[in-house]
Amino acid sequence: MSKPVRINPDGSTDYPVDEVCAEMDRLIKQGCIVFVKYTCDKCGERVTSNVPNSFAREGYIHEEKGDGTPCGHLTVPIGINQLTISSTDPKKQQQLLEAILGKQGLGKGN
Ligand SMILES: [Zn+2]
Repeated sequence: MSKPVRINPDGSTDYPVDEVCAEMDRLIKQGCIVFVKYTCDKCGERVTSNVPNSFAREGYIHEEKGDGTPCGHLTVPIGINQLTISSTDPKKQQQLLEAILGKQGLGKGN
């Protein structure tokens, strides 16, 4: 990986989209489930896409913030990161998947 394109106040980092997408492809081929993480341009919140194994080049609308209030901003990220669910433990994989998909305040892909 090259240098991060963004370092957030919470210490999380975003890398160039093409690099992260290449890494995602590699992980998906290994059987992992991967979710894109990005940073909302308006409110600065860290958002995890709820669409597995895909990156929306047209951007993400941050519908609801972590505190339940609406955001509604469309971010076309120049840098992203990823949340990977490894394929090695199917039970843990399922638990994590449910936790992610059931969580409020997720950004929505396309
Ligand atoms: Zn936002």
